[in-house]
Amino acid sequence: MFGEQSGGFRVRNSANFQVHVFPLRFRGAIIPPVTNKDIVIPTELRPADGRFASGPSKVRPEAVAALAEIADDFLGTSHRKSTVKDIVGRLRTGLDSLFSLPDDWEVVLGNGGTTLFWDAATFGLIQAKSQHLSFGEFSSKFAKGVTDAPFLATPQIINGDMGSHPVAVADDSVDLYALTHNETSTGVAMPLVRPADARDDALVAVDATSAAGAIAWDTDQVDCYYFAPQKAIASDGGLWIACCSPKAMDRIRSIAAGPRWIPAGLDLGIALDNSVKNQTYNTPALATIFLAMHQIEWFNDNGGMSFSAGRSAALSDHVYSWAEASPFATPFVTDAGMRSPVVATIDFDDSVSADDIAATLRANGILDTEGYRKLGRNQLRIACFPAIELSDIQALTASIDHVVAELS
Ligand SMILES: *Cc1c(COP(=O)(O)O)cnc(C)c1O
Repeated sequence: MFGEQSGGFRVRNSANFQVHVFPLRFRGAIIPPVTNKDIVIPTELRPADGRFASGPSKVRPEAVAALAEIADDFLGTSHRKSTVKDIVGRLRTGLDSLFSLPDDWEVVLGNGGTTLFWDAATFGLIQAKSQHLSFGEFSSKFAKGVTDAPFLATPQIINGDMGSHPVAVADDSVDLYALTHNETSTGVAMPLVRPADARDDALVAVDATSAAGAIAWDTDQVDCYYFAPQKAIASDGGLWIACCSPKAMDRIRSIAAGPRWIPAGLDLGIALDNSVKNQTYNTPALATIFLAMHQIEWFNDNGGMSFSAGRSAALSDHVYSWAEASPFATPFVTDAGMRSPVVATIDFDDSVSADDIAATLRANGILDTEGYRKLGRNQLRIACFPAIELSDIQALTASIDHVVAELS
C-alpha cells in the first residue's frame, strides 16, 4: 500500500541540520516525500537562534563560552575542592540575591532534577497528607507519585481544567500544599498565595521548574520553592535546587530524625547538610552547575528579577498580541490573567495544521515549537524564557506567518 515505510535515510536540509526522512515505496519505486519541509523560510525572516523549546531550553552562547574558558581548571576537578565549591557557593548566593531570600532560608541542591525532588519530597517533606493542585502534566505527576506512597495518607487532589488553574483550599488535615508556579504543559501560570486558614505548621511547596528566575514571587507565601535549571535558568538538566524556609528545614530535619525509612540519595536532611557546605551528596554535573550560576549572575548583574522577568514578559506579550491580532491563531489560555509569561500556548484554527507548521519550522532550523502531545490540540507551544532575544521571537512569529501563507 501507499505509505509503507522502510529503511529511512538521513539528509541535510537547507538549515544545515539532519532530519530523518522515510521514503515512500510504491510498486518498488522510491517516490521522494512531498512535504511541507519543502517550504523555505527566507533567511532574513528567520530567527538568529532557532531554539524555542520549553525545556531543555536555549543555553546562552555567552555561558557556554565562559564554561569553555574555565574548563581546564574546572571540569574534571574534585567537587570536594574549593574551585567547584566556590561555583556552587556563587550559585547559592546568586539565588539568595535574585529571590531576596530572608537570611534564615537556605538554598539546597542535589542530583536528579525536579522529578527526583518529587520523590525526595514524598519521603522527606510531607508529614502525613498533602493537597495538590493538578492542572497539567507536571502537577499531576507529583500528585500521582504521592498517591502511590504507602506511608502517606491519600492526598487531596484539586483538579483544574486544562488551560486554567484551581486554587488551594485550607484543610486542617493537610500539612503540605503542592502548587505549580508555571504549568509548562499548558502554559498556565498561577500566583503563589498561602491558603488563608492553613495550619500554622503547613508548608507551601512550589514546583517552579519553568518559572524560577522569570516570574516574581514572595517568600512570605512559600516555604519550599524548587526547580531544575534547564528552563528559565538556561542551564542543563539533572540538578534540583530547593529554596527552603526555616519551617521547611524544620520539617526536613524532623522527618529525617524520625522512624521513616528514607534512601540516602532521596534524603533531604543529607542534601541540606551537604548544601550548606556548598557540596552535593554525590558527584554533580559540574557544567550544569556552572551554566546555572552564570545565568543567575547575568540576571543579577543586570538588575535581578525585574530584568529577567521583564525579558520574559516582553517576549510573551509579543506572542500573545500577535496571536490575538492573527486571523488564524489565538492564545489557548482564555483568561489573560492566567497566561504564562514564560511558555505561550497558541491554538490554530482548522484551516491550518499546527503540526505542519512545527515540522516546517523544524526543517528550517526553528526547533521545538510542537504543542504538548497529551493536550491533543492544534497548538504550538513557544518558550519565552529570559535567554531568548525579543528579535528572535519577532522573527519566529514572522516565520509562522510566512509558513501559514505558504501552506494555505
Ligand atoms: C520540566 C518540568 C518538570 C520536570 O523536570 P525534570 O528536571 O525533567 O525532572 C517538572 N515540573 C515542571 C513544571 C516542569 O516544567
